[in-house]
Amino acid sequence: MRFFLSLLALGGVSASCMFAQNQMAAQAPSEKALVECGIDVRPQDVPNGDYGGFYSWPELVTEMKGWAKHTDIVRVQSLGKSGEGRPIPLFHITGKAQTVAPKPEVFFVVGIHPREQAPTICIVRFINELLAGYGKDPEITKLLDTRTLWVVPMLNVDGKIYDFQHGNGTTKGADWRKNRRENGDGTYGVDLNRNFPIRWGGNRAYDAAWKTTTADTRGNIYEGPAPASEPETRAVMDFISKHPLRVFLDLHSPLHDMRSPGNLSQSERDIFAGLLDKMQKTQKEPYPLQVPKAAQEPRTETRGGDSGISYPWAYYSTGAYSFNIEIGLKGRYPVPATVEQEYTDNIRGPLFTLLREATDLKAAGKGDLKFGASQWDGKPEPGERIVWKPQIKGDYSYAIAQSADAAGVIPMEFHLAPTTAGFPILIQKEAKPGTRIPLSLYVWDDKRQLTVFKDTLVVR
Ligand SMILES: [Zn+2]
Repeated sequence: MRFFLSLLALGGVSASCMFAQNQMAAQAPSEKALVECGIDVRPQDVPNGDYGGFYSWPELVTEMKGWAKHTDIVRVQSLGKSGEGRPIPLFHITGKAQTVAPKPEVFFVVGIHPREQAPTICIVRFINELLAGYGKDPEITKLLDTRTLWVVPMLNVDGKIYDFQHGNGTTKGADWRKNRRENGDGTYGVDLNRNFPIRWGGNRAYDAAWKTTTADTRGNIYEGPAPASEPETRAVMDFISKHPLRVFLDLHSPLHDMRSPGNLSQSERDIFAGLLDKMQKTQKEPYPLQVPKAAQEPRTETRGGDSGISYPWAYYSTGAYSFNIEIGLKGRYPVPATVEQEYTDNIRGPLFTLLREATDLKAAGKGDLKFGASQWDGKPEPGERIVWKPQIKGDYSYAIAQSADAAGVIPMEFHLAPTTAGFPILIQKEAKPGTRIPLSLYVWDDKRQLTVFKDTLVVR
């Protein structure tokens, strides 16, 4: 009993929900399961209008309560807590059939950018279709009996609630993209999709398209004070790191394309291209694809973009085949009926394809490469550029370097083998002597086996 009480005291989450997180409990029925995870509408979370057709937080909670009633195939959990302390909903959906081998796992995340309305509407349609079809539609039944689907229908809960409390009450929210961190200078919010520890801070030049930089706290693409500084980012990372995912999807709008990570080895490029081609073939009006034409390294150290983004981080760190689908409709608050049509015509097919194909994708494995002592070119001092040259022994395909501290920024994070050019690290001017910068090198071989090498750079 003391164990339970200490969990309660620490987490502030009910024992039942904590059990669910540990996959130990019998399923709690429907609404109770959500409430026990703290997923509910607080009086202060109500929007300032009805936003006909868009999902405000209370309306999304109503949908989630409907999902939770399917206790035979749905389990409600909490991914973690938002910056303002709200539980982030996580749904585990899988059929009752027991298989001998572990079921391949697929993870869909929606709502990293709360102002984008189309992803929420589409994921609600998708889940409703799966739940209505299970036990009736043979294909859906088979898909869910042989795969495990995890869905976060709204990652950025704080941002979502803010968006719909500060919109016009009818057709638009506040156009809010970030979370609600207090930045300490009168501004609010970090773009969670610039906060992942992959090339974080790697390009802080003025971005004409965004009219800001990733370092500007006022901007819509503010990267945060450090890599993975935000609880929502860490919740996603923690989940992805602990689950052997075959597929990860981050669903956005409205840029109208489907994307793989930008830098790939040849064999992995071919797999991504094949998957995207299958997804595209299901679409009534095929979306453009963003996938490299061949094996590709980053063009330059100073290229724009590519910093702190979820799906490259997921792919490079865990091997889960990771995508961004940008639902292509005009604007971030399109007429809801057009989203329904877009789901039917162009989104439903790719989502089902990812679920269907998961079984045939090769899972990532563990490698056993050895490493010599790192070599360094340059001085480890504030304001300096030092090149990290890890010494990898054995055959590998490509490697990705990550820094876990804001004091050291890695702008050229990816190299195909051999990585002899090394990975430049920009030691920030503000870095304090003595700061220890944790570095990780993710090294992949052509059998999809990962070996992680850790090192530390100490600022002098
Ligand atoms: Zn987005």
